[in-house]
Amino acid sequence: MEDNKDLRDDNKDDEYEKYCYLCRRPESKVGKLIYMPNDINICQDCMQKTFDSFSGGGMQFMDLSNLPNLNMNQFTPVNDIPKKQKIKKKKEKEKTKEEPEMTLSSIPAPHEMKAKLDDYVIGQDYAKKVISVAVYNHYKRVLTNTMDDIEIEKSNMLMLGPTGCGKTYLVKTIARILNVPLAITDATTLTEAGYIGDDVESVLSKLLAAADNDVDKAERGIIFIDEIDKIAKKKNTNSRDVSGEAVQQGLLKLLEGADVEVPVGAGSKNAMVPLTTVNTKNILFICGGAFPEIEDIIKARLNKQSSIGFRADLKDKYDKDENLLSKVTVEDLREFGMIPEFLGRLPVLYTLQSLNEEMLVQILKEPKNAILKQYQKLLSLDGVDLRFDNAAYHAIAKRAMEKKTGARALRAIIEEFMLDIMYQIPRDDTIGRVTITGDYIEGTGGPLLEMRGTLALEES
Ligand code: ADP
Repeated sequence: MEDNKDLRDDNKDDEYEKYCYLCRRPESKVGKLIYMPNDINICQDCMQKTFDSFSGGGMQFMDLSNLPNLNMNQFTPVNDIPKKQKIKKKKEKEKTKEEPEMTLSSIPAPHEMKAKLDDYVIGQDYAKKVISVAVYNHYKRVLTNTMDDIEIEKSNMLMLGPTGCGKTYLVKTIARILNVPLAITDATTLTEAGYIGDDVESVLSKLLAAADNDVDKAERGIIFIDEIDKIAKKKNTNSRDVSGEAVQQGLLKLLEGADVEVPVGAGSKNAMVPLTTVNTKNILFICGGAFPEIEDIIKARLNKQSSIGFRADLKDKYDKDENLLSKVTVEDLREFGMIPEFLGRLPVLYTLQSLNEEMLVQILKEPKNAILKQYQKLLSLDGVDLRFDNAAYHAIAKRAMEKKTGARALRAIIEEFMLDIMYQIPRDDTIGRVTITGDYIEGTGGPLLEMRGTLALEES
């Protein structure tokens, strides 16, 4: 039985590339590997180098004809490396795959894409429009390969918006609509190669993992780099800026499109892990950040522009402007500490609004996978009808607004009061309906419970 299982695993292994034991490069890159006992493969280059060092390094006395008899058991078999560190072979896939290939006609047009986004993401109309058009254009270029002929710029994006307003959510939703792999990284974890932290290539490793280690699929994926404002150039520093400007520099070549050697299944090239080459030309990069202090920069610029003559009464004109962030320009970002080369590679710039109470209420009610709908579904499996009255929606939204973390606060609040409900209700199977009221959320009353018997009477 055990043996059969092993056999099956071996067969599956055929999908994966073999690696040179010495230089860790895959067969597709180094050419046919020489198979040695104990599942060790060595590329011709490394073999040649080994011979050269034998003959050049004063080891001429060694009889090379004995080489195959070397005791290879002393090596650890290289193909024992875990699957997540192996690369699937390129181009061997047949067209009979379950997943349909992406084609020009299968990409939704911008208005369709936006309509699909509307099902999940509340508000943010402008951002949804921009992202739909940019993503559509990007994949049009990728699939028709016009990128090479006319050299159209990549539609890499930079999105600004306060925390919890849906930046990550928007990208996640678009990747799901298009069915492309998505990797989400935090820019704060990145450092210049050689320092503690992840190298910039690690973002590609993540994408590769999201694409099931299929390089072709990964090369059409989306990479979202969050907290991009945290890698702004540090001001007034004498030490080397390894997690700021250097990371921006490191990302330049990825954003533009380059062949990058990527460690498979690990964040660093230093570990003994296989490497593969990923071309980033068709990967869509989306950077996002809250840029908290940029509002002061925008304000200062706007005040300066309109200061002539009426300075005194214009000074606080922008202080209460809620949409100040949307007036951002590339110059402001440059002043914030983003380097011009970096900004130049993110041509699509847009902002998301902060969510107001009304939008939070909509987030509770409307999206297809709204969190309250999930609870309703869970309780309906117990035969209990869960309802919320209007005051409850507003009370939840109001409490979330106080936390100033956007829609992120909603989940925490809901989980807090739903815990009791989820714990108590299944205990009593006479309960047929629970209505959460505003008073219950505010802690001044309880939920409204209705018994199954009365409900049955009502219905009849
Ligand atoms: P950030 O802007 O900080 O990246 P997220 O996108 O991670 O925020 O938002 C956190 C959660 O809040 C999401 O998982 C989503 O459920 C919810 N959310 C945020 N904004 C919206 C929105 N506009 N519409 C619907 N849900 C949203």
